[in-house]
Order: sequence, then C-alpha cells, then structure tokens
Amino acid sequence: MTQKFQWNRSAAFFERVDRLELHGLHFQHVNLCERRAWMYLHRVNFAQWNSRVATGAAHQATHYQRDRSTVGLFGLAPDRVDWDQAIVFENKGTGGASGAVDRQIGFYALMLSIATGRAWTGRVQVLTNRRWRQVELGDELLSGLWDDSLRLERLFESDRIPDAPRIGLCTSCSLAAFCGND
Ligand code: SF4
Repeated sequence: MTQKFQWNRSAAFFERVDRLELHGLHFQHVNLCERRAWMYLHRVNFAQWNSRVATGAAHQATHYQRDRSTVGLFGLAPDRVDWDQAIVFENKGTGGASGAVDRQIGFYALMLSIATGRAWTGRVQVLTNRRWRQVELGDELLSGLWDDSLRLERLFESDRIPDAPRIGLCTSCSLAAFCGND
C-alpha cells in the first residue's frame, strides 16, 4: 500500500504546468541548458525543418510503441507505469546527465502523485548496463521541481534568448544549428 501524497504547492504547481503546457522534457532541458529550454518552450524545433529528422521521428512514432500501461496519460510520456505499486519508469540509453533525468522522471512522479493522491516514485532504467535507480519524491526533489517550474515560467515569458556557455552536450544537440554553439 503506497502512502498518501500531500504537498502544499500542488495546486500552484499544477496550474503553472497546465497553463504553460509543460512536460517532462522541459524539466530535463532546463537542467541541462537554459537556452535549449528556451528554444523548446518557444517551439524552435529543428525536427520541423530537417526532412531527415522528421522522417526519423515519424519512423519512431510508428515503430516504437510505449508500454500499454501508459495509454491515456495525457501530457505525460513515461515508458511504463506500474499502477499497483505507484512506480513510473523511464528508459535511458546511458546513465549520463543523471541530475537532469531525475528531474524529468521526478516530474512524472509528481504529476501522478497530484492526480491520484498517492505517493509515486520514479525508476530510471539504464539500457546499456541494465542497471536502474530509484528516484524518491522527497523534499529536495520537490523543491527542485518547484524552482524549475519558476525558471521555466521566466523563460517562457522572456523574448530574449538566454546566454549559454558551450557545454559537452552541444556537439550532439539538435538545436545547435539555431544556437551558434555548434
Ligand atoms: S547547442 Fe549547446 S548551448 Fe546551444 S542549445 Fe544546444 S546545448 Fe544549449
């Protein structure tokens, strides 16, 4: 039996997420690169421009089916959901950028906790080494998600693309062509 979920910021967090149409990747991006998050929020999307990326996205949409447990989760896109044990799963190819990934899956766990009133946990499965780690929705993660939502709101309202240093991610970033850090 899972515990009840209570957080005095639930209503305000949900309102902001709903109004800004935020989802898991926003919370990952804002912890990797604010410029990337800004472009994502403002719908600057290389996939819409580049036919090869667009074809790849269409291929993935038609050939890669998420687990059936996720059907009906409007706005959330985890890889699997265990409704009995209140665990939400996210698969990653490697174990990199764990802090940003934890915010993404933490967001899923938080939204499911708000929606169901039960305390959910996240589980990140790393496909290359078959390891997994648990992501608990404790005070630190809740506070981080709250702060992320405020940062995302600021970025959403800003017309100015934020400064961004060149980082390791830039070499593989799909938005590099727009950014100049390619
Ligand atoms: S290329 Fe680098 S700086 Fe530019 S958006 Fe991507 S990660 Fe951020």
